[in-house]
Amino acid sequence: MKYVSTRSLRDLGGFSDVLLMGLAPDGGLAMPEHIPTFSPNELEGLRGLEYSALAYAVMRPFIDDIPEQDLREMLRATYHPDVFHSAEITPLVRLGDSDLYLLELSNGPSLAFKDIAMQFLGQVFEYVLERRGEHLNILGATSGDTGSAAEYAMLGKARVNVFMLSPHGRMSAFQQAQMFSINEPNIFNITVNGVFDDCQDLVKEVNADAGFKARYTIGAVNSINWARVLAQAVYYFKAYFALNLPAGQQADFSVPSGNFGNVFAGYLARRMGLPIGQLVVASNENDVLHEFFSTGVYRVRKAAQVAQTSSPSMDIGKASNFERYLYLVAGADGVQTRAWWAEVGESRAVDLSDSTHWEAVKSSGLVGGRSNHEDRLDTIRRADKRFGRLIDPHTADGLLVGERYARAGVPMVCLETALPAKFEGTVEEAVNRTPPRPARFEGIEEQPRFYTAMDNDAAELKAFVVEKLG
Ligand SMILES: *Cc1c(COP(=O)(O)O)cnc(C)c1O
Repeated sequence: MKYVSTRSLRDLGGFSDVLLMGLAPDGGLAMPEHIPTFSPNELEGLRGLEYSALAYAVMRPFIDDIPEQDLREMLRATYHPDVFHSAEITPLVRLGDSDLYLLELSNGPSLAFKDIAMQFLGQVFEYVLERRGEHLNILGATSGDTGSAAEYAMLGKARVNVFMLSPHGRMSAFQQAQMFSINEPNIFNITVNGVFDDCQDLVKEVNADAGFKARYTIGAVNSINWARVLAQAVYYFKAYFALNLPAGQQADFSVPSGNFGNVFAGYLARRMGLPIGQLVVASNENDVLHEFFSTGVYRVRKAAQVAQTSSPSMDIGKASNFERYLYLVAGADGVQTRAWWAEVGESRAVDLSDSTHWEAVKSSGLVGGRSNHEDRLDTIRRADKRFGRLIDPHTADGLLVGERYARAGVPMVCLETALPAKFEGTVEEAVNRTPPRPARFEGIEEQPRFYTAMDNDAAELKAFVVEKLG
């Protein structure tokens, strides 16, 4: 499979090349040259496969530069019950006797769905780097979930170092404890005297120094990485088959969304032939995506306009992976996509409401909705009372917006993007009790913490990287 850029550059190479690439040289995102599809018969053949075999079937058409046996082995090691604490990997749970389902994606090492893709990234990075005789130094910024998922995934990897910036004192107590309790020679936690945007700006500043970037092989694990998107498509298939519907019958999905990686993976599954009816894009108070799906205008916000909410992992001013979606909606037209993004660059907005593309958006299955803090608390309370199920604030956004779009007799699968234990404060506010936490995290706040505190200063950061890499 050859990869191309969403902004029309061709020949980005194969899967292993775009794996290590980050943005394409023209500023676009890597996409496969075409989207392979399963016929209804082929789909039936996937029913009943266990998770890693299903992952192989779904991902293989996009990965032809890794030998079959190696890919199968990597996927078996990644999607192992010891890592995800269940034989199903992503168990599907019906909520009472309703048509609502919860897809559990958060039983992995960091208790958020990002583990599912990030664990694969850890395996495949090591594999490709070993074959190429290269090393990679991941420099990232996190406000919580990405950092811990990346660090757990890269633990003990010989060819990967992680330098992870976070805003000093601003993550939840649990998230801080999760990251800073890691004491491994290849993981470096750095807290920055500033906010999350300052961390992100520091990463950008270091990456802008092309000489430094090349000499110290600086890379990223952010949500635009194609391998992450691809690995996430698998659980849509898994959930669909777990519903046991008659062949061809539709299911709907509701997805708590920020950077649009998770819901785009669902769209990919739909384009591959999985009978998905609606894909509900759930937003919080930061409603860039809701605005687009209700008006046709994609209007990005400045960092200062992004509200801090009680579903913080969805606090975004622009949705990185959205470009992939519009590219496909435009019929894989890179020239059109490049023009749209030039417009966004100039005026911070692009209006599709009058175009034929808007019809394509409307028939793509995606619909949007939003919720706020009160909705979130209320939804957590209702799910607890009605279904005896505690959910986290992000999952609550998804459940609430999913309920609004639910169709009689059609299953609505709501993606559980984090466990409630990860966001104790808001869950306690809703139900007046502390959510249970997996035994391995008991007392984690009392463990010693390993991190380096730093000023908001790129020179200091670079000096730190140089010192650690010797
Ligand atoms: C990252 C994250 C999201 C948003 O996912 P995207 O792929 O960025 O849309 C939602 N919920 C939780 C808990 C997350 O960690």
